[in-house]
Amino acid sequence: MTNIVKISVRNLVEYVYRSGSIESGFRTATTMIEGTRIHQLVQKGYQEQDEKEVFVEAEIPYEDFVVRVDGRCDGLLKDGDTVTIDEIKSTVHPLDDVQEDTHPVHWAQAIFYGYIYAGDHDLSKVTIQLTYVQVKTLEQKQFRRVMTYEEMESFVYKVMEEYALFLKGKIKHKIMRNKTSKTLEFPFETYREGQRKLAGSVYKTIVDKKTLFASASTGIGKTISTIFPAVKAIGERKLEKLFYLTAKTITRTAAEEAFRLLIDHGLDIHVLTITAKDKICFQEETICTSVNCPFADGFYDRINGAVIDILEQEKMINRMVIEQYARKHRVCPFEFQVELAYVVDAIICDYNYIFDPRVSLKRLMEEQKKKTAILVDEAHNLVDRAREMYSAEINKSNFLQLKREFKNSSLATAAKAINDHLLQVKKSEDYLRKDLDKELVELCETFIIEAEAELVKMEHELLLDTYFATKTFVKIAELYNDQFVTYVEVQKSEVRMKLFCLDPSEQILKMGKGFRARVFFSATLTPAGYYKDLLGGQSDDYVISIPSPFARENTEVIIQPLSTRYRDREKTMEPMVHFFKDVVDKMDGNFLIFFPSYQYMRNAYEQFTDHYPSVATMIQDVGMSEGEREDFLAEFNSERTEKLVGFAVLGGIFSEGVDLKGDRLQGVIVVGVGMPQIGFERDMMKDYFQSVGKNGFHYAYVYPGMNKVLQAGGRLIRSDSDTGVIALIDDRFLQRKYQALLPYEWQHYTIGV
Ligand code: SF4
Repeated sequence: MTNIVKISVRNLVEYVYRSGSIESGFRTATTMIEGTRIHQLVQKGYQEQDEKEVFVEAEIPYEDFVVRVDGRCDGLLKDGDTVTIDEIKSTVHPLDDVQEDTHPVHWAQAIFYGYIYAGDHDLSKVTIQLTYVQVKTLEQKQFRRVMTYEEMESFVYKVMEEYALFLKGKIKHKIMRNKTSKTLEFPFETYREGQRKLAGSVYKTIVDKKTLFASASTGIGKTISTIFPAVKAIGERKLEKLFYLTAKTITRTAAEEAFRLLIDHGLDIHVLTITAKDKICFQEETICTSVNCPFADGFYDRINGAVIDILEQEKMINRMVIEQYARKHRVCPFEFQVELAYVVDAIICDYNYIFDPRVSLKRLMEEQKKKTAILVDEAHNLVDRAREMYSAEINKSNFLQLKREFKNSSLATAAKAINDHLLQVKKSEDYLRKDLDKELVELCETFIIEAEAELVKMEHELLLDTYFATKTFVKIAELYNDQFVTYVEVQKSEVRMKLFCLDPSEQILKMGKGFRARVFFSATLTPAGYYKDLLGGQSDDYVISIPSPFARENTEVIIQPLSTRYRDREKTMEPMVHFFKDVVDKMDGNFLIFFPSYQYMRNAYEQFTDHYPSVATMIQDVGMSEGEREDFLAEFNSERTEKLVGFAVLGGIFSEGVDLKGDRLQGVIVVGVGMPQIGFERDMMKDYFQSVGKNGFHYAYVYPGMNKVLQAGGRLIRSDSDTGVIALIDDRFLQRKYQALLPYEWQHYTIGV
């Protein structure tokens, strides 16, 4: 069977023609609005018979495969028998710096379009034209070449020859990958209870091209139950690629282990783990320019060789492997990962590579997305993470400072305009707005163009930071709808304007669109309706809930109805610490106690250690490093002879994502209902949800809070025969609205010890 490979003309020529260095960490690509504006400006000058945005595609056979290429040609200019292919490019550089041979890749793209068009219309020659537009001055400069069909064909095949070096390895790998995933068997003797149901649902979701919301208790083995069916779907030709998205290092490791297990069972697959830039950067200071970083210098000259090499040698491409090959080929480890993300079969990474419009993998073509599934682990975390991704802010003081530093320049004028505008906003006292400040967005767009023109000439930290913040602001403004609000904070002379995303559902839906399937899963996706709502669920999505596989009688659940409300804390502190002691005395083994804040935790810790100095204790500290965190967890081991009681905060590093299996943890005590602190943003969320017919208080406070409680309780991982204890301290746990949120496994509680 002939292998058909699809790729856009742009991606193909960029792969072959890229060269040079990573420069200054900022891309000079103009904003979408700006790019469209420039294209439209040039296209406005076209004659009546000319065409714009012409879709072209062709199948190009090469040895034993066929490459299907497509693209959109900016302009098709017709003058009698002469046809000109026009490719429009915007640039922040002065036009004098742009010469005919400055960008071979632009020629390559236009020649491909010319070749396809000439082939389709039986033309013996066409004119290839590059039109450059300076984004600031809007001046234009054009270069033309007349090329015969034969010349274009020979050019196209030279490009194909280069691409084939990469493609042959990829095709060979794909054959093996499909074969081994088809024959792959579940890597355990039997499925645990609930595991088959989850795996089956994931597979069906992929086959049916749907979205699944799965709530599956801790202990089921969620990681393998989602990865295995997705890999099987690759073998059945339903999928080409899968993303395993997770917010935490520990769950990332679990996903790597699951893939490794499948590889040990015969699977041939390329799995990449993406590590954040600040963690994987080789340099002391992350300044991504050819002058400051040898791994940025000449990056594009060496990257293709590095990609081919790593894919030939490795299957599990984790941080260590990336670092090794990045040093070998002297390429930036972070950008190396990004390049690999487009060509490997499975990617384990943070949510933002798919959901954040600022960092998402832009080169993932629609065609590829159709054969890609996204598996979102611990999906309850995505709600707040997404809110952050879709919010943006700017500060007046930065623009004022830039105005002063760049005196008498057009950049100063642009910065001054924003500074003045924010000053007006301050005077108006119109601090909470439903509508987007479009005038400000336009000023920001002008500022971006001016900033880019300066940044190509010089390094300037404040300008670069302000440029990024302004770009994000404009990007988020493009998404702005009635699920957003704009608010202004004034503090002395500072004015901060924030575009705040109240409800991320539409954005999550939009960013996940186009993928073959989406699986959102977590141990605590309850209440299902709330998460489905906020994660962009639709009425025909699949929803499943898989209860704990373990007998609920093995876990004793106690509710202690003491008030943990702020005003009562002092009064209830004493009985609370005695209650801790009563609970931890119930059985041998280690305990974790979770609190809603550090302060509350420290006070309770002091009281507890005063009363019971002989009990071994540990306490979480603010901003613990990964090593300190591991040391803390290592103390919770089953070999301990004396009981250990750990004090930690709800919603923190120890209350989610850590698995203290077996005898490492005997009991969990949760203080309070986890409610987020009452504040301005939460209150705006409450009002918004109320206004759209939901229970605003529940959506903004109760559900996110109870999720933290359920997550903390989930750290107690029992096996079939183990017993343990979960104690919940707060009288609100006895109210109906909170009771309704307790999982089935916790509903056989007793009151008090
Ligand atoms: S190694 Fe660090 S400084 Fe160098 S290009 Fe990569 S991220 Fe930037």
